[in-house]
Amino acid sequence: MITVQRVAKAAGKHLTKAGLKLRKALGARANRVCPACGKAIVGFFRYGDNGEWGCPECGASPRERLMNHLIVQGVLSVPTDGAILHMAPNEASLVRHFSAAKHYIPADLDPVRYTVPDMRRVDLMELSEEGRYDLFYASHVMEHVPDDRAVLRNILRALKPGGEAWLLVPLWDKPTEDGSFDIPPRERERRFGQWDHVRQYGPDFADRIRQAGFDLEEIDTASIDAGPRRLHALDDRLFRARKPGGATPR
Ligand SMILES: [Zn+2]
Repeated sequence: MITVQRVAKAAGKHLTKAGLKLRKALGARANRVCPACGKAIVGFFRYGDNGEWGCPECGASPRERLMNHLIVQGVLSVPTDGAILHMAPNEASLVRHFSAAKHYIPADLDPVRYTVPDMRRVDLMELSEEGRYDLFYASHVMEHVPDDRAVLRNILRALKPGGEAWLLVPLWDKPTEDGSFDIPPRERERRFGQWDHVRQYGPDFADRIRQAGFDLEEIDTASIDAGPRRLHALDDRLFRARKPGGATPR
């Protein structure tokens, strides 16, 4: 669905991308580094309100860069000897990190949309596996599912004790507003920012995760040192949910 809002965002993105190319061609000094592709760049391109949104080399978003920073710094450790369920795997750098695992399962409700090999179809509403995964990763997925409380319980069940779910969602400052697929797409876009979103999360997403039975750590970009935060133009917040039990947390 094409709307004025989306066209304006795309145009802004295109213009700043062209500007970055020009500055690079004119010999501007690279003063940013993308932690997703490792390249030194003259800046990130704009998308919507965020003036430093995307990497001009690999396209990485602020949240993809945040995840790479946390993994490279060792704040998060990828369980390469275990099983990882990676939903909606459209962040290439994370496919690289996670596919190093012994059992890597890239999946989506609509797997044909992805170029990652061996994609599986997984409907999180129907996820019925038990104690199978060491890591579950879903970035900007939970705002698409009809019943997120049920999905959180399914994820908890599918994890091994001590296993972790790394969740990122679009956030605003207000409390979470829930909708449903009965609401017309145009109204969903107006209320939740995108036609295929059924809710808009606020900081109380944390409460839903805890209510499902997880231990939770929130890692907000604000808690990261100003140096790397600026160098990589990091943004966003990771909800790091851990299934109780198992060995001592890493
Ligand atoms: Zn990059």
